[in-house]
Amino acid sequence: MDTYLDHNATTPVRPEAADAISRALTQHGNASSVHRFGRLVRHTLDEARESVASLVGVSPANIVFTSGGTEANNQALRGFDGTVLVSAIEHDSVLGAREDAQMVDVDADGVLVIAQLREKLAQSEEPALVSVMLANNETGVLQPVREIVRLAHEHDALVHCDAVQAAGKIDVSFGHLGVDMMSVSAHKLGGPQGVGALIVRDGLDPEPLLRGGGQERRRRAGTENVAGIAGFGAAARIAREKLELFAELAGLRDDLETKLRAAFPDVVIHGVDGDRLPNTSCVGLPGMTAAIQVMQLDLAGVAVSSGSACSSGKVAPSHVLRAMGLDDAAAQSAIRVSLGWNSVPRDVDRFVDAWAAMAQRRSADATAQRAVA
Ligand code: PLP
Repeated sequence: MDTYLDHNATTPVRPEAADAISRALTQHGNASSVHRFGRLVRHTLDEARESVASLVGVSPANIVFTSGGTEANNQALRGFDGTVLVSAIEHDSVLGAREDAQMVDVDADGVLVIAQLREKLAQSEEPALVSVMLANNETGVLQPVREIVRLAHEHDALVHCDAVQAAGKIDVSFGHLGVDMMSVSAHKLGGPQGVGALIVRDGLDPEPLLRGGGQERRRRAGTENVAGIAGFGAAARIAREKLELFAELAGLRDDLETKLRAAFPDVVIHGVDGDRLPNTSCVGLPGMTAAIQVMQLDLAGVAVSSGSACSSGKVAPSHVLRAMGLDDAAAQSAIRVSLGWNSVPRDVDRFVDAWAAMAQRRSADATAQRAVA
C-alpha cells in the first residue's frame, strides 16, 4: 500500500465533503434565481458560508468565495493602491500578485524580522498593506501575526494574512489575530480543489478581480461553484470539530523526527526551533538533492514533496529556505513531509524505513567515491 505524506500540497477529500458535493450536484437551480430551485441552491451556499465563517470566527457576510487561495491572495493584493510589504517566505501566489512589493526578511528560524518591518512601515509615505502568512507551507513555521497586526495598525497599515496552510489545522480566529483580510483554501483542509475564500473585515471593500454579476455582494462576479463550495463548507465544519485530533499529529511528527535523527545524525530539520504546524516537517539530507530523494521515496511507495509542492517541478532551490539563510546546496536538499487527517503511525514507520534506507545508500555511495578518489 502507498503512503501519502504530502498533505500540505493537497489533502484527501473528507467523506463528508464528498457527500456534500454529490448532494449539491443533484440541485440544478441557480442561486440567483428567485424560484424554489434557486432558493434550494441559495440555501446550500448559505449553509456552507456559515461553516467557513465559523471556522475562522467571522460572520457569513465577511466571506467572499473564490476559486482558491491563489485567487484570494491576488484579490487582496492586486487592487490595493499603495505600498505592499510581504515577507520573503510568502507563497508564490502572494509574491507573484505584486511584483512591486517590498520584501521583509525572516530570521534563521523562518520568522519575520519585526524591526525591519517597523522601519519599512515608518518609511512608507503612502498607505501600506502588509501581507504575511500564518503558517509556511514548506516548514510549517508560524508567524507572529498578532504582533505584526499591532505594529501595522499603529502605522495605519492594513494586514492581509494568507492562512491557507493554517486554517483547519490549528485554531484560527480572524478577530483574535486582528487582521483586515485573510485567505483560506478548501483543498488544504479536506475539501475539493479549486475553491477558497477571501475573508474581509466589515467596512473594507477590496477591488474585485472579476466584474460583471452581483454575486458575493459584488465582490466576485460569476455563478458560484456550488458543489465546490458545498464541499468546502462540509470540510470546514469537520475540520473545526476535529482540531484537537489534528493537534495530536504533533506527536507523530515528533516521533518521525526522532527516528530520522536516530537513523542518520546528520539530518537537519528546518524551522524546528520556531512554533510550527503540528503536521509539517522539513527534512534536509545533506549531499542529496530533494528531487532525487522524492523520486527514490516514490519508488519505495512513499509520497512527499521537494520544497513547495505547488511548484514541485521546479529545480531552483526553495526561496523559503534561502530566505532562512541556507546556501543553495542545503536549500536544494530538503524535502517536506506533511501529515494529514487520515495519517496513522504506520505511515511514519514506512517513511522512516524508506528514508533511512535511502540515507544509508547515499552514505555507502559517498564512501565508495572517496575510496576511488
Ligand atoms: N498560500 C499557501 C501558503 C499555499 O500553500 C497555497 C498552496 O499550496 C496557496 C496559497 C494557493 O492556494 P490554492 O492552491 O487554493 O490556489
